[in-house]
Amino acid sequence: MRCARCNQYAPVNSDGHCTTCARKLAGLCAFDGCTEPRHGRLCWRHQAQRQRGEVLRPLEPNLTPAELAAEVEWLLGTDSPDHIAARLGRSRDSLYRSLRRIGRRDLIDALAAETMRAAELMRESRMGQVFGPDPRKAHGRVA
Ligand SMILES: [Zn+2]
Ligand SMILES: [Zn+2]
Repeated sequence: MRCARCNQYAPVNSDGHCTTCARKLAGLCAFDGCTEPRHGRLCWRHQAQRQRGEVLRPLEPNLTPAELAAEVEWLLGTDSPDHIAARLGRSRDSLYRSLRRIGRRDLIDALAAETMRAAELMRESRMGQVFGPDPRKAHGRVA
């Protein structure tokens, strides 16, 4: 049978669509077998895999909060909290919720501090653009 949508020879479902098209129409991630909703072509977690330059692979089963905490500890300081959350297939809020549930306020605080530090850096770099580099710093007299 030909798929009614992409016109390729493939097994089709009752609507006449191949599995790829059926997944697309159902709003599922394009990665075969992935049951996550898609955002663009892929789900968040497969997008994260692609962003990391990895070969797309089936998603690992959801991490338990304890595993999540271990991952956060490992990733802390290497990336922004939003990116860390995305790597773990979470939004930042849902990550915070999981950590709170297992009483890891320390990790939430660390992530929040990281967010503030990032905002600070951004503000400084913006000021740098407005006022130009500090001439004293340019001569290396100020550490
Ligand atoms: Zn098709
Ligand atoms: Zn996916």
